Amino acid sequence: MGESRKGMLLVVSGPSGTGKGTLIEKLIEWDSSFGFSVSCTTRAMRPNEAEGKQYYFIDDARFDQLIQENAFLEYASVHGHRYGTLVSEVNSRIEQGQNVILDIDVQGGMAVMKKVPSCVSVFIYPPSFNILEERLRNRKTETEEEICRRLNNARGEFTKMGEYQYLLLNDTVELATERLKCIVNAEKMKSARYIPTIPE
Ligand code: ADP
Ligand code: 5GP
Repeated sequence: MGESRKGMLLVVSGPSGTGKGTLIEKLIEWDSSFGFSVSCTTRAMRPNEAEGKQYYFIDDARFDQLIQENAFLEYASVHGHRYGTLVSEVNSRIEQGQNVILDIDVQGGMAVMKKVPSCVSVFIYPPSFNILEERLRNRKTETEEEICRRLNNARGEFTKMGEYQYLLLNDTVELATERLKCIVNAEKMKSARYIPTIPE
């Protein structure tokens, strides 16, 4: 018995290739109360992607228009492309008690932490830089130039780890998923989120 209030806004950040997408997918499979916030991006669609699933793929002019309309909770340039979290993907769902996950870079993560202090922030990190590089290469979604840019940017992003509430090692998918579930389970029990009704 009990009454849930607002939903949880779960911010998942970490350098490219650390496993954000992989772990978010596992979390949503495990707990269907979580919905993914689909961001806008100006980067090109990858072969395995679909419009409105991973992203809304838009051009620079549309991105500028959305900024003018205050449609973004946050937006940033990441690895040479623009990305933005839509207010419409987040606010109403949280108000209705749904849980929402953001897969966003560190700049975006810090902006959301400021704007929505009640969010739960998780930073994913790899066992080593070599393993990060290996995972990024094995994914085969970026050119050599893009891989180098992402690996260089990773160094700077790691310096911001301490700004996050939780630091999650992604060594194996199984262990990392368990760690993420532990965070979510504990957060769900917070008194700020849930008021139990104790029967007589
Ligand atoms: P991100 O969303 O952070 O850029 P991905 O989830 O796409 O990262 O993961 C990067 C690559 O590494 C993918 O090919 C994914 O299958 C792989 N991967 C993710 N986690 C692990 C892990 N624990 N062990 C081995 N490979 C992993
Ligand atoms: P990718 O191009 O690999 O899908 O994503 C590149 C980076 O952009 C990732 O670090 C991802 O978390 C980040 N990203 C995706 N959507 C958003 C967003 O809406 N805002 C911000 N700031 N970063 C985002």
